[in-house]
Amino acid sequence: MADPIAGKVVVITGGSSGLGEAAAHCLAARGAKVVVAARRKDKLEGVVGSIKSAGGEARPFVVDVTSKDEVGALIAEAISAYGRLDTMINNAGLMAIAPMEEGLTGEWDRMIDINIKGVLYGIAAALPQFLKQGSGHFINMSSVAGIKVFSPGGAVYSGTKFAVRAISEGLRQELASRNIRVTTIEPGAIDTELKYGTSDKAARAAVEEVYKTSIGSDSIARAIAFAMEQPPDVDVNEIVVRPTAQVF
Ligand code: NAD
Repeated sequence: MADPIAGKVVVITGGSSGLGEAAAHCLAARGAKVVVAARRKDKLEGVVGSIKSAGGEARPFVVDVTSKDEVGALIAEAISAYGRLDTMINNAGLMAIAPMEEGLTGEWDRMIDINIKGVLYGIAAALPQFLKQGSGHFINMSSVAGIKVFSPGGAVYSGTKFAVRAISEGLRQELASRNIRVTTIEPGAIDTELKYGTSDKAARAAVEEVYKTSIGSDSIARAIAFAMEQPPDVDVNEIVVRPTAQVF
C-alpha cells in the first residue's frame, strides 16, 4: 500500500533546527515535498541539501514568521512550486523563560510575535488554499507549557502556548465541516536549541537542569507523521509527548 504521506506538499516553519528540521527529514524520507522555512539561510540550505542527497524533495524559503507578508509569500511559493498545499506546520517558536519581575518586555514581545502572531499568519496564509482545495491539515506546535504553567519564569511562554491551543481548537471547530484537519502537538522537554532562548542567566541554568532528561526531536517528528498518515476522516486533535522521565 502507498504511504499516505508520500506526495503531500508540506510547509514547515522553524525548519532550520530542532523539531522542524527533524520533521522535514522524516516527512521527506516518506516522500513528502517539503518547503523548509526559517530565518537562517545557511542552515536551511544545509537541511535541504541533506534531504536532497538522501533522495528527498525539498526547497528552502527564508521567512520571518513575524511578517505577515513574508508568510504569505512562503505559502505562495509552495503552491507555485508544487501546485497545492496539504499540510501547514506552524512550528517556529521562542522560549524566553524569566520571572516577570525581570521585566524583559522585549522578550515578551518576541514570544507573542513569533509564537502567537506567527501561527496566526500561517493560518491566514494557508487557509484560503485549503478552502479552495476542500482539504488541508494544520499542525500547530504548542507545548506541555500550553497545558500547565511552570514557575518561576514560564508565565509569558505558557501564555503564548495556551493561546496556540485555544486558537487551534477554535480553528478545528470552525473547519470541521470543511474537510480541514487541525492537530495541536504538546511536547515536553525535547533536546533542541529552544532551551537557550532566554537572556536571563539564572533562568537558563534552571531550564538546562530540566532538560537533562530531554529526548530527541525524532520523537515529535513521529507524532507529526502519525497525525498526517491518518485517513482524511480522522483528525488527531492533540498529541502530548513527554520524556518518560519527565514528571511535570
Ligand atoms: P529550536 O530553537 O531548535 O527551533 C525553533 C525554530 O524556529 C528555529 O528554526 C528558529 O530559527 C525558528 N524561528 C524562531 N523565530 C523565528 C522567526 N521569527 N521566523 C522564522 N523562524 C523562526 O527549538 P524547537 O524545540 O525545535 O522549537 C520548535 C517549536 O516546538 C517551538 O514552537 C517550541 O516552542 C515548541 N516546543 C519545543 C519544546 C522543546 O522542549 N524543544 C517543547 C515544547 C514545545
